[in-house]
Amino acid sequence: MRVLICGGGIAGLTLAYWLRRRGIEPVVVEHAPHGRLGGYGIDFFGTGYDVAARMGIVDQLTPHRLPVDSVDFVDASGRAGARLTSALLDKIIQGPHLPLMHTTLEGALLDAVSDVEIRFGETIAAVRDEGSAVEVDFAGGGTERFNVLVGADGVHSRTRELVFGPHGRFERQLGCRLASYPVTDRYDWGRVRAHYTEPGRQSVVYPTGEAGGLMALFLFRSQEATSVPRAERLDLLRSTFGDMGWITPSLLADAPASESIFMDTMTQIVMPSWHRGRVALVGDACGCMTMVSAQGVSMAMAGAYVLAEALQAEGDHVRAFDRYQARMRGEVTRRQRNALVFARSLVPRSRAGLIAQNAGNRLIMRAAFAPVLRRQFGATSILPPRGKD
Ligand SMILES: Cc1cc2nc3c(=O)[nH]c(=O)nc-3n(C[C@H](O)[C@H](O)[C@H](O)COP(=O)(O)OP(=O)(O)OC[C@H]3O[C@@H](n4cnc5c(N)ncnc54)[C@H](O)[C@@H]3O)c2cc1C
Repeated sequence: MRVLICGGGIAGLTLAYWLRRRGIEPVVVEHAPHGRLGGYGIDFFGTGYDVAARMGIVDQLTPHRLPVDSVDFVDASGRAGARLTSALLDKIIQGPHLPLMHTTLEGALLDAVSDVEIRFGETIAAVRDEGSAVEVDFAGGGTERFNVLVGADGVHSRTRELVFGPHGRFERQLGCRLASYPVTDRYDWGRVRAHYTEPGRQSVVYPTGEAGGLMALFLFRSQEATSVPRAERLDLLRSTFGDMGWITPSLLADAPASESIFMDTMTQIVMPSWHRGRVALVGDACGCMTMVSAQGVSMAMAGAYVLAEALQAEGDHVRAFDRYQARMRGEVTRRQRNALVFARSLVPRSRAGLIAQNAGNRLIMRAAFAPVLRRQFGATSILPPRGKD
């Protein structure tokens, strides 16, 4: 069986690894010219960590753990009103937890698939499901046939658009935009991730682990669902955050060129089915939960693992796709619902909402509330124990 994977990110590379391990030939097309640079921090735990352990890459990841001992919710002077310590986080997660840069994980996955054909700077232009095979035209020229096409090309999936329909049909907007970029540490920053919130907007800073390196993250309420052109991103951040308190003006002053700022809407993907004919979707392409769930990477890796296992076990794409979807969908839907609820209060609209959020944070960030927090944020692996799948 020959499988074309569109998208060489977390889901795509994990799928390529497990297909290869199960005797199926993957080919990956990734539209970026090389492995991606930059990126943002992720909390890595639950099923994703389990899949990484099964791949034997945890030892490669651990030295790159982000140096964060607590998440502080600060006021304009930088004083923490509420604090989520590593000890409390351990009680909530109750399992291994690795804060990482997204690109660290992608880099380790890339290393793990060095024997897979990856075509960088390439993408799909047209897809024709011919019943006995799927025929794909590539943007760079040429046409090839595959047994199966898997779209692992993220929340704005081109595969989804080509095969399932326009983006708007499957998008659920959470009413928030996010932006992120690296900044120089002028603050003698400690091992802290700090969140500062004003009505409708929030700025966040955390260390990357590289000497003098910090990441700035901005969240702001917006009903706009369109993508902001790269050249306009910095101006939008300046007009939205320019008069914000704390160290926000200094973070803006240190921004890189507008073109290199990561910016996106907070968008979930909800679809009636994750497959059609010989085409299936995996990861954010079919089940994006947004950063709020802190489980996007895990579900992308879990989906890839389960899909590879189903393709091998069933030997037939129709049964395999049904089995994959049946195994994954409930958990993804549950995580999406949790994220939807949490997103409503993430960046309060009003001063009153902010006061309530601060009081709530102070109350709940205690060991006694760990079980409550675990219901919202905890995650244990959804995979059967090793050797039983
Ligand atoms: C700021 C932020 C913080 C986050 N924090 C967390 C967290 O703490 N924990 C967590 O688990 N998740 C987190 N997430 C979510 C997580 O990053 C995603 O859920 C995860 O990366 C999804 O993996 P994916 O492979 O499906 O998509 P992606 O990682 O987006 O990969 C898609 C790949 O497809 C490629 N591609 C796109 N279009 C095409 C095309 N047309 N042709 C070919 N290739 C294409 C892209 O270049 C990319 O390599 C966060 C997300 C953001 C934005």
